Amino acid sequence: MEAMSERAYPSLDNAEIADRLETFASVLELAGTSHYTARAYRRAAELIRETKAPIADLVSAGRVRELRGIGPGIEARLRELLETGRIRELEELESEVAPELVGLGRFLGLGPKRAVEIGRALGVRTAEEFRAAAAEGRLAGVPGIGPKTEAKLLAALEHATRPGFRPRRGMLLNRARALLEGIAQALGGEVAGDPRRWRDVNEEFAVVCFGPRPEPLLEHFERLPQIVSVVEREERRALGVTVEGVPVELVVAEPQRFGTELLRATGSRAYVHALEPLPDGVDEESVYRALGIPYCPPELREQPFRGEPPPLVEVDEIRGDLHVHSDWSDGKASVLDMAEAAVERGYDYLAICDHTRNVRVVPGLDADDVRRQAEEIAAVNEVLTPFRVLRGIECDILPDGSLDLPDDVLAELEWVQASVHAGQRGSAAELTKRTVEAMRHPAVRCLSHPKGRIINHRQENALDLERVFEVALELGTAVETNGLPDRLDLRDVHVRAAIEGGVPIVCSTDAHSVRGLGNMRLSVATARRGWATAEHVLNTRPLSEIVRP
Ligand SMILES: [Zn+2]
Ligand SMILES: [Zn+2]
Repeated sequence: MEAMSERAYPSLDNAEIADRLETFASVLELAGTSHYTARAYRRAAELIRETKAPIADLVSAGRVRELRGIGPGIEARLRELLETGRIRELEELESEVAPELVGLGRFLGLGPKRAVEIGRALGVRTAEEFRAAAAEGRLAGVPGIGPKTEAKLLAALEHATRPGFRPRRGMLLNRARALLEGIAQALGGEVAGDPRRWRDVNEEFAVVCFGPRPEPLLEHFERLPQIVSVVEREERRALGVTVEGVPVELVVAEPQRFGTELLRATGSRAYVHALEPLPDGVDEESVYRALGIPYCPPELREQPFRGEPPPLVEVDEIRGDLHVHSDWSDGKASVLDMAEAAVERGYDYLAICDHTRNVRVVPGLDADDVRRQAEEIAAVNEVLTPFRVLRGIECDILPDGSLDLPDDVLAELEWVQASVHAGQRGSAAELTKRTVEAMRHPAVRCLSHPKGRIINHRQENALDLERVFEVALELGTAVETNGLPDRLDLRDVHVRAAIEGGVPIVCSTDAHSVRGLGNMRLSVATARRGWATAEHVLNTRPLSEIVRP
């Protein structure tokens, strides 16, 4: 028994340690600590989750700082957690900022500070106590809450538990996927809701699991670091809220109905409604079989559809990325780093498309720079052959429709993207004239992010796509499906229109770092939502068909 007292707490596994660090990161953020500190803890959590060796052993051997991203501060927290079973600062902060109330508050439309103030006035600490106090009519006694606000909060609490509740602002696809993938992985379930259909803006979040006994899964869900409070719990379903107030539904299906529940929770509502009543099925394939219709990929489940879907393009059919940046403009990585990462992804080619001078807000290249960059690209090609780095450019389209580099320089380049960066608010006539003029330049191969939107920040521009597609078809120019999560431009319906107009799509990432190359899955998913097959996507083809002789 003596030996036991040496370590009073059972050793935590990597997933448990990562969960605690992630909670710590969220709470640090709520407490207004520097964004960088919170991010460092979140990264450490990710790293620990992916590490195979037991972190507890690395810490006790004094070797944990050999992992990249774990510095002395994080090491000290890990030591404390493993030796005492707790992180004291985390507990102190939790009592100060009440993450559960903050999550519920955001869900109801209250700012974090206000939610904590109301909680204090009511003398409540948990979401459940908050709901009980509201139901008893005690909100009316809180300073600053009049009858109108009380009615609004009560309605929001009531409304929140109904299916179809949507947050006020949609979540970007990369964050939505990461949120649900984390939850699904922890529970051994599947991502569902809007992110499973790879929507550009996500409002409905669900994870579907199965098990004969739902309780353990529902309880595990409540304890996940991503879920700060559960606002509704039924026998096989729960609605949880993240610290940002985003509602996530958990469905625990009976094993023989897993496919049925997954199909239903994936949506869209209109698509599912048209298939009802759904037969029971252990997986989606058997549900479709029982319905007597072909399997439909989630990306195509927007409008009612019972037909045979086309063979949609797959990420592993992509042979190269044709729009990435390097440290010559605003990218973080060198040409060599980007190229090596592309080789690792199994690509055959990569076009380095840095900005030109006109872009101004970030460094851009002039004619001299482009020629100096050519030397670096040639050197990288020598090392990585037969892999090919293409000399590309993301060339600004000037207000008069001319390009931001001299013709002789453009003629040397192997891949020219033309981009409008300023003047997105121009009229349809102006923008279309300017864009079409640029497309007529013989060097231009592809039009970047044609609609110029930044999701949740800037509306789509007025560019007349029908006219652009006509000209693109005439000239053999391609149009881009940009994979930056806040662009995804062209988006689904526009991809479909381009394809119907006979215009090739390029799926690219516009990566500004090695990590950014991973957004290819977002670009490809967006093209898939536009019914694209490999045949429609130019960069599924070999290099010989990309580069003009
Ligand atoms: Zn751009
Ligand atoms: Zn770019």
